[in-house]
Amino acid sequence: MSASSQRPGAEAVAAKGWLAAHKWLILRRASQLGILLLFLVGPWFGWWIVKGNLNSSYTLDFLPLTDPYLLLQALMSGQTPERLGLIGVTIVVLFYLLVGGRTYCSWVCPVNLVTDFAAWLRSRLGLKGSAHISRQTRYWILAMTLLVSAATGTIAWEMVNPVSMLHRGLIFGMGFAWAVILVVFLFDLFVMRHGWCGHLCPVGAFYSLIGKFGLLRVKLPARAACNDCMDCFAVCPEQQVIRPALKGIDGAPPVILEANCTNCGRCIDVCSKDVFRFGTRFGAAESTAVAKVSPVPK
Ligand code: SF4
Ligand code: SF4
Repeated sequence: MSASSQRPGAEAVAAKGWLAAHKWLILRRASQLGILLLFLVGPWFGWWIVKGNLNSSYTLDFLPLTDPYLLLQALMSGQTPERLGLIGVTIVVLFYLLVGGRTYCSWVCPVNLVTDFAAWLRSRLGLKGSAHISRQTRYWILAMTLLVSAATGTIAWEMVNPVSMLHRGLIFGMGFAWAVILVVFLFDLFVMRHGWCGHLCPVGAFYSLIGKFGLLRVKLPARAACNDCMDCFAVCPEQQVIRPALKGIDGAPPVILEANCTNCGRCIDVCSKDVFRFGTRFGAAESTAVAKVSPVPK
């Protein structure tokens, strides 16, 4: 964390101004809330721009969008998808191949608002301790949900999926969803930093698999300018993705290719040296110089 302040991003605010140091955060919140609003104006005001929910929706009676993880569970359970569902899945997969799978997490998923808030509060309260669960656990949970779907003939994860529960709850009334979201919030706040999204959620795990090939990436054209303030590590929900690209570990190019980068852009915001920027996965070798100092993530 920056030496001048305990708050990550303070140096960036001083160097480039508050707005530039929060640009991607503001755009991300606008995206998350805007998407929610599109779903809400139907039931609230009868303006049916989008029908359905995050699992399966139909925009302007023209654009079908279907969650590929939902479709996979349905296939495993023995259900035959409709043609519109298949078209919707194809569009969603192509989109996330372009922008990176876990962009869904940072820019669309409503649970991210809750887990980001828990992370922010955790940092403000100075809560340090964190349980240890491997980040691979989410992939085991993902595999298990597919097996349970096959064994029970149900779309297994949908019965307990906090993402769908919160989204449906916000549209149609919260009910039991409050309790589930509260558990996720308290888990992230008191038990584990970025515990849910970074370690357990199979939806994020699934989108990271699509994201392996994503075109949109965070690049580090100025990584030699890094002053080791650690602010990018402090704000990143998936800290392990930064170090190889920042420090050129094992000759890594200056681009974050790790599938779990959520393209949230917070590292770009809080870096006072403008080390990071958005770009594509190609042309990564344009800058190979690295800073001499080597931070170790917390
Ligand atoms: S990891 Fe899961 S809950 Fe978290 S933002 Fe991604 S999809 Fe949403
Ligand atoms: S590396 Fe940057 S864009 Fe990727 S998850 Fe971390 S803070 Fe977000």
